[in-house]
Amino acid sequence: DLVPVRRALLSVSDKTGLIDLGRALAERGVELLSTGGTAAALRDAGLDVRDVSEVTGFPEMMDGRVKTLHPMVHGGLLALRDDPSHVAAMDEHGIGAIDLLVVNLYPFEQTVARGALYDECIENIDIGGPAMIRAAAKNHGFVNVVVDVEDYEPLLAEMAANDGATSLNFRRRLAQNAYARTGAYDAAVSNWMAGALELAAPRRRVVAGELSQTLRYGENPHQSAAFYVDGRDRPSIGTARQHQGKELSYNNINDTAAAYELVAEFDPAEGPACAIIKHANPCGVARGDSLLDAYRAAYDCDRTSAFGGIVALNQPLDAATAEEITQIFTEVVIAPGADADAMEIFAAKKNLRLLTTDGLPDVTAAALSFRDVPGGMLVQDRDVGRITLDDLKVVTKRAPTEEQMRDLLFAWTVAKHVKSNAIIYASGGATVGVGAGQMSRVDSTRIAARKAQDMAEALGLSKSPAEGSVVASDAFFPFPDGLLTAADAGARAVIQPGGSMRDDEVIAAADKAGLAMVFTGMRHFRH
Ligand code: 5GP
Repeated sequence: DLVPVRRALLSVSDKTGLIDLGRALAERGVELLSTGGTAAALRDAGLDVRDVSEVTGFPEMMDGRVKTLHPMVHGGLLALRDDPSHVAAMDEHGIGAIDLLVVNLYPFEQTVARGALYDECIENIDIGGPAMIRAAAKNHGFVNVVVDVEDYEPLLAEMAANDGATSLNFRRRLAQNAYARTGAYDAAVSNWMAGALELAAPRRRVVAGELSQTLRYGENPHQSAAFYVDGRDRPSIGTARQHQGKELSYNNINDTAAAYELVAEFDPAEGPACAIIKHANPCGVARGDSLLDAYRAAYDCDRTSAFGGIVALNQPLDAATAEEITQIFTEVVIAPGADADAMEIFAAKKNLRLLTTDGLPDVTAAALSFRDVPGGMLVQDRDVGRITLDDLKVVTKRAPTEEQMRDLLFAWTVAKHVKSNAIIYASGGATVGVGAGQMSRVDSTRIAARKAQDMAEALGLSKSPAEGSVVASDAFFPFPDGLLTAADAGARAVIQPGGSMRDDEVIAAADKAGLAMVFTGMRHFRH
């Protein structure tokens, strides 16, 4: 199954590594064919190249829309070398076999990413490139197709190992990658059009990603897994730099993403904030006068769960905070930067992973979220809903104090990032009890109160920090029972969406218990 490479067609937008590849191929005696810009670049480097237009007998035309779309090219890529009728057709029409296709496509994704106008994006949809790639990949029994600069070296190594030929296995892997590239390319075009045309629910939707990392396993050791990135959301976990520590696991990536999304809700201009995550739920979130204060307050919320947690910061890591974080075992720390002293302190902790990004994730950026269900996938807008003071409606006789208002908005923001049913007690800009992922709201309310008591015990406080706290509920209280549980735990003010059939009953119960309550009119389920 070894096939010698005798003739190559090179047509690349990104000319990185092109000259070295062209030279190495020429030295092996491979004949080079090429399109306009690529041919010019190769010639400039002193290499012998034949123009595709000479092979096709047609000039490149229509602003490059038609360059290689010709039987002299596609026949050379698609002909089965071991089929007599194909060989006869080649002879009859003077079609030369092409054994190697090197193409990288018009930079459509980059054109969209830099905010180009509609027509420019359209002009950057490559037509001839994908057509050739798909043809060559189909005929991988005989043809090598290279679509990534990263594959130039492996190609040359394969040829070197096989006296200028390549193996079927090698060509198959190239072909698989090639179809993934054309698939991802068309996915990018289709998704861009869906956005540009504001189609909320197009009939077809494709997702595509580039391998970022193969993972040791998935959520559990018997599941294989990998991390794919799609170029959206920068900065994010997808673009973060890891400075130290072993490779991130599937659960690490999932938790780190959750932690960073949450902490990014807190504008660094309004002060430091810290979120600590376990099993995708926050076990402590706090703002502080300093990053150190914020970390300590977040840690104090649930010291037991914080062990082995993921810490996310909304400001660059400093030495004092780094020192404090190293006092317990932490899996991952992510921040929009880290100063040199902080890096040095972490360097002594080999198992601690430090990730940094250039700035915080944009929590207001519109994006889609996907979830697989058997038989398909659910797609929705990412939850970028945010509430300000002006959105809040006081529904009780008593209105929250200014300080309670601040804590209510804080608790509400945290609630958005807690699995439903979510109940969060907060006090002084920090969570003091988190109830997550329960099937009944009243259970989450009880659990969160219980966590507040645990916090009192752990810190040796004389009373539960839920006393005098505020409480947030990610969805309405369907009955007064959950609200009364929170009142019993000591909460003094409540934030919730409202909208229950029994709102009147719930408001009456709040008034009776002397609570202040505000409605947001927005729900934050998260499952
Ligand atoms: P060059 O810089 O060599 O002039 O052009 C290289 C680019 O043209 C590559 O990205 C390749 O995919 C693309 N290309 C090759 N043939 C065709 C064609 O027939 N139509 C279009 N639209 N693009 C082509």
